Amino acid sequence: MTQISQGFRPVHSSQATEKIAASQRQLGMNAADVQKSEPAKPFEVYLHVPFCLRRCGYCDFNTYTATNLGEGASRANYANLVIQEATRLRRWQEECGLTPRPISTVFFGGGTPTILPAPDLVRILGHLGTLWGFEPHAEVTTEANPDTVDARYIAELADGGFNRISFGMQSAVPEVLRTLDRTHLQRNVIDGVAAAQAQGLRSSVDLIYGAPGETIEQWKTSVEAAIDLGVHHISAYALSVEPTTKMGRLISSGRLASPDDDDEAAKYEVADRLFSKAGFRWYEISNWARDGEVSRHNLGYWRNVEWAGLGPGAHSHFGRMRAWDTKHPRMWAKQLTSGIMPWGGTEEVSASQDLEETVMLGLRLSEGLSVADVERRSGRTIDRDVIRSLMKQGLLETNDAVLIPTLQGRLLNDLVIERVLDALGE
Ligand code: SF4
Repeated sequence: MTQISQGFRPVHSSQATEKIAASQRQLGMNAADVQKSEPAKPFEVYLHVPFCLRRCGYCDFNTYTATNLGEGASRANYANLVIQEATRLRRWQEECGLTPRPISTVFFGGGTPTILPAPDLVRILGHLGTLWGFEPHAEVTTEANPDTVDARYIAELADGGFNRISFGMQSAVPEVLRTLDRTHLQRNVIDGVAAAQAQGLRSSVDLIYGAPGETIEQWKTSVEAAIDLGVHHISAYALSVEPTTKMGRLISSGRLASPDDDDEAAKYEVADRLFSKAGFRWYEISNWARDGEVSRHNLGYWRNVEWAGLGPGAHSHFGRMRAWDTKHPRMWAKQLTSGIMPWGGTEEVSASQDLEETVMLGLRLSEGLSVADVERRSGRTIDRDVIRSLMKQGLLETNDAVLIPTLQGRLLNDLVIERVLDALGE
């Protein structure tokens, strides 16, 4: 999840109703507008757990190693706070006249959700079910750091209703794991996946390519090790170096090599080739799955469905409204215990932003970008000459109804997006 930092402006509980009303006025939400705008879209819940055992050197996520951040924002009390936020959000939906829909997917992310005791995760999930209910076969995933779970923990999750687990494997090579400051061993990943499979849970692993010093052979080892685990789904992300992280500082001082675009492109091609050969199919630029095993939750983000984000820094999408929780857990907890939505801000997406989002998200997917949909949304016609030129360059495939990036188009996705927006006159 993208985190947006928001400064904290104290809001007293007596201001809560006015704040919500003001936010609706500002958004022009006459209650049912949000609902009407997206009648048939699935409703998802993302829950952010902002705690980690230690901070990895490359990470700039909204996560903290302290066990207690003040104002009740502690690991021990976190489940209570998130339950409070979910209850508040459900009430907000009623106050706005929105008809709550059953949850189609839930994703516990972080941070490290599995730093919390399994009964806490199960209790939160149970409460979400009480508030909204679940669609039949709802997908319920938690991310897990491989060294924070064991067979017993995973069995408790399975008993409590979780049906999918996503392990932060990152690499199978000890040297690369050290560069990334990861604390787990490949043995933990192997055991975790085996325990998940024994409980009937669907499993996924995340990989990172492009760590400083990682050779193409080492990357190949990691890709093959991920395939050999027998998981249903694999995500592979290029390392993104943020200047404020420990790794960012080591790179800018010349003590670590900077990731190289050509090296990352070569590693992406290796991954795509090996995953495809092993029976995985890409369905989003960074995600590959066996048949029927896509992450429905993640696909929901790319299809721009509606979701509630709970926890510090989490984002929510309701129709054209975007809201984001206050980033720092202490400030977030303070707002929450004052009885108000712990939002750092809200905005309404303009028609032009909506179109841009639709193009960007659609061109990341193997199902492609619907030409009819963007033409309807924009009221314009796509310039077919631009599309033909992108096809000639080997960046796009199309059957006239949808635009799908080729392998080269995935590697040069920003360029493809820019050209398609040009073709719409954006
Ligand atoms: S475990 Fe994940 S969220 Fe936590 S510090 Fe490492 S990369 Fe960041």
